[in-house]
Amino acid sequence: MSTQIQKFLDQRPLFTQCHAVDRDADFAIHLGVWRRSEFPDLNAFVAFVFRYSSVLQPYIAEPDRRDLASWFHPDSNAEESAASYMTNASPLSTNARDWLAKHAATVDGGFLDSSSIDTVIVDNDSMYIQTTEWYIHSFVADLLDAPEPFPQLDGHENEEPWSEDRNFYEFLGPESDSVSCKRDVCDRGRVKHSVFCRPHHFENVKGRPSPYTH
Ligand SMILES: [Zn+2]
Repeated sequence: MSTQIQKFLDQRPLFTQCHAVDRDADFAIHLGVWRRSEFPDLNAFVAFVFRYSSVLQPYIAEPDRRDLASWFHPDSNAEESAASYMTNASPLSTNARDWLAKHAATVDGGFLDSSSIDTVIVDNDSMYIQTTEWYIHSFVADLLDAPEPFPQLDGHENEEPWSEDRNFYEFLGPESDSVSCKRDVCDRGRVKHSVFCRPHHFENVKGRPSPYTH
């Protein structure tokens, strides 16, 4: 099971949003954003979401959590379910940013292009979007019915936000195919403007091991 979780972590969202729908926070809009280049097409993206739907809610609510494996329930019919879902879907051709502003105002769609014509698929409680740059999946989930309490955000103020580490790591860019990392035992290539590979550059700058190895 841990291998399957690793597959999810290798392809986890680039960033996430989790916004309470109402003031009592009974429901929240969960949103994950992936690079378009991560998936060959919209069908493959929807199949990925179906395969990992059991971990998306806990992951988006708290990306740093360590207990994801215990949430994962493999769905052996995920591929068929996704294919059937797509067969019955009625995709809209519309601007995703405008659509979100109108129908999901708590979501911050500021990262989206304001003039592109995107593909939006909506059902009762979830949504899939394909833009030139992104795949987006969003769903409404009840936080109170979670099988275990989510970590309190109070008291986490002094911790570095997840997105800062991840953004730092992503912006290091690709590793060289020809020039290797300076660390003796490392067989990865170095990144531009550094003598280290991505994880070792992270470690060198941040003074702690990189949480990422992709
Ligand atoms: Zn290295």
